[in-house]
Amino acid sequence: MSKFWSKIVHDLTPYVPGEQPRVTNLVKLNTNECPYPPSPVVLDRIKEATNDDLRLYPDPDASQLKAAIAKHFSGQTSSTLSSNNVFIGNGSDEILAHTFQALFKHDQPLLFPDISYSFYPVYCNLYQIDSKKIPLDSDFSINIDDYSIPNGGIIIPNPNAPTGCALSLGDIETLLQRNPDAVVAIDEAYVDFGANTAVSLINQYPNLLVIQTLSKSRSLAGLRVGFAIGNESLIEALIRVKDSFNSYPLDKLAIAGATASIEDKQYFDDTCKKVIATRQYLTEQLNTLNFSVLPSMANFVFCSHDSITADVLAAELRTHNIIVRHFTQARIDNFLRISIGTDLETKTLLNALKTIISARS
Ligand SMILES: *Cc1c(COP(=O)(O)O)cnc(C)c1O
Repeated sequence: MSKFWSKIVHDLTPYVPGEQPRVTNLVKLNTNECPYPPSPVVLDRIKEATNDDLRLYPDPDASQLKAAIAKHFSGQTSSTLSSNNVFIGNGSDEILAHTFQALFKHDQPLLFPDISYSFYPVYCNLYQIDSKKIPLDSDFSINIDDYSIPNGGIIIPNPNAPTGCALSLGDIETLLQRNPDAVVAIDEAYVDFGANTAVSLINQYPNLLVIQTLSKSRSLAGLRVGFAIGNESLIEALIRVKDSFNSYPLDKLAIAGATASIEDKQYFDDTCKKVIATRQYLTEQLNTLNFSVLPSMANFVFCSHDSITADVLAAELRTHNIIVRHFTQARIDNFLRISIGTDLETKTLLNALKTIISARS
């Protein structure tokens, strides 16, 4: 607290990101990074880009990256997209912030699930946006009928975090049809691990904004790149906020690396397949150790053990140099969120769990 602070700063409760420990011998399964490196082409292009004149400002519109994204999704889906449908940000967290400010500040409350990405309430507090948390069902799924109340917008991660549960495209389409006067934002940070992207619906629904990141499925959390896809008028709102805040959210190296990543579809597909296969193996093995595991479409699993509490398991894993995420929030405080690692990391984790569980039973 200080007398120098603006009034709003006194009332902020910032987001707390997962730990990034400095020690290197850890099996780090706590923040959903990809266990594999980015495409080698990414590093080549970043090295080439260091020959660019860093004395000069980067392209404020990241035009080459927007074009690569529009082309990638036009090929993947039946949508016709141009660069005017794409917005670029310094990580999708920055895009979410701009989305809250540009599109969600209305008379009616913004709706999101009670168990969801914990950054959403932080943005509401920062931008003074009225919100209402909609409880997940008892099986942790989202029931879209619960969203049929007056609202000034809806934001849902698909798959949801930290549960990993996915909504069908049909459910998303129903939400869009029921809310023609509000923006429905789908945060697709984990969509590449088995769920269906809503980008295919962009041309039909002017109220749809899809937000993705290169941090998870493209192994580039350290580069800080995210993008949004939507109707031109939604994109224009985001650009107005961006250009009133920071015209150059991406530097030249990030633009070069991100563009290379989007263009290397083969490497991306292979990486996602490996993560999905390991998720399948981990889920089966956890089941045999008496964990219940929610059906995950993400690069993590959310699980709870039938006799040992999650806080104890997390602390014991730590003594084995393995870190996973444990949330203290009601309803999920007996769950662990475990990111999918390499096959070797997964075996190390399972061996440690076997040791911990047998010592206690
Ligand atoms: C990781 C994550 C993000 C943020 O990703 P960045 O692009 O690294 O900022 C956004 N939404 C959800 C649900 C996430 O899990």
